[in-house]
Amino acid sequence: MGADFALIKAYLRNNGWALSRKIKTADLVIVNTCAVVKESEDESVALIKKVQKNKNRSAQMLITGCLPSINKNRLKQVFNGTAVSPNSFQELDKILNTKSSISEIKYTGSLRKLKKNKYAEYRLRIGWGCQGKCSYCAVRFVFGKPRSRPILDILKEYDIAYNKGYRRFILIANDSGTYGEDLNISLAHLLDKLCQKYKECRFALSHLTPNKLKEMLPSLERFIRQDKIWRIYVPVCSGSKRILKLMNRSYDLNDFKYCVTRLRNCNPNLEIKTLFLVGLPSETEKDFLDSLKLAEWLISNNVVTDCIAYSSRPNTEASQMPNQIDSQIKQERLKRLSILCSFFNSLNNNKEELLGISNKIS
Ligand code: SF4
Repeated sequence: MGADFALIKAYLRNNGWALSRKIKTADLVIVNTCAVVKESEDESVALIKKVQKNKNRSAQMLITGCLPSINKNRLKQVFNGTAVSPNSFQELDKILNTKSSISEIKYTGSLRKLKKNKYAEYRLRIGWGCQGKCSYCAVRFVFGKPRSRPILDILKEYDIAYNKGYRRFILIANDSGTYGEDLNISLAHLLDKLCQKYKECRFALSHLTPNKLKEMLPSLERFIRQDKIWRIYVPVCSGSKRILKLMNRSYDLNDFKYCVTRLRNCNPNLEIKTLFLVGLPSETEKDFLDSLKLAEWLISNNVVTDCIAYSSRPNTEASQMPNQIDSQIKQERLKRLSILCSFFNSLNNNKEELLGISNKIS
């Protein structure tokens, strides 16, 4: 959502708006929401209430982000004005009566040149949407089917960001492995173009599913070997075969481990990141221990491992599943996995203790 909000900011700047430092003096107030998990939805709702209370009475207020698409009813309870979802930004032209259209924006970063900061990362949007059907996910309702941004469009923004001094680019998409399928090209094709244009630039890939990673690995390996890709984010979500099936993410965990090993062998310095989702309905202690075990293996292979708790999202399959997990058990499991993730350096010392705790909670 950050990349989309940057787009709105650039669009407003292009139409002569300036950022107001104080909410009271703003003529237009935009609250960018997130409702991917229940906690972020609660925070967004609290922010909407706070902004309504503090803004100038005559200021126009807009809601953007995924809350309008994920939980329209909850939004209606606190706000009855205009909301724009990430799939319908073109509506902003009419709502704000702007001279130049949001579709004309080719650069969303800062207008200032970067002062020597070779690690500054530029978020370069390459596509929207996802072809997955994960049972817990509401994001797919927001963006719909995968749509790739045309290469020429991406290259224009890449050019401008390069000239501002950026050399590291995070390629943003909800499902980056599907990039290009609707244009009869591939992610490797895009990477080729980007690498050919500016040889010193490096890239991070966001949101690759384990299945896509397996499929694409042969075409990605040369970029990894040449150190063109510095990070790959591939959320594994669970170490339990049964839970993965319930999530509609039926990949083979041995294949996933094989891919991680191959990536590691390709470039020991590659940053591999993953995420676990804890507490899907019916998750048993045994399922959770499978995740814990997989996390241990990943951590011992230098995979940056993180975790979040499952939260029920409206209209998802998982929200209708029986045996929702008690929130105390969920939080306890989350804590155990978080400890493992955060203190992986001391993993070997703590391993027995962690497994001891896990045996007690069943
Ligand atoms: S792959 Fe990601 S965005 Fe797509 S349905 Fe699954 S969780 Fe949602």
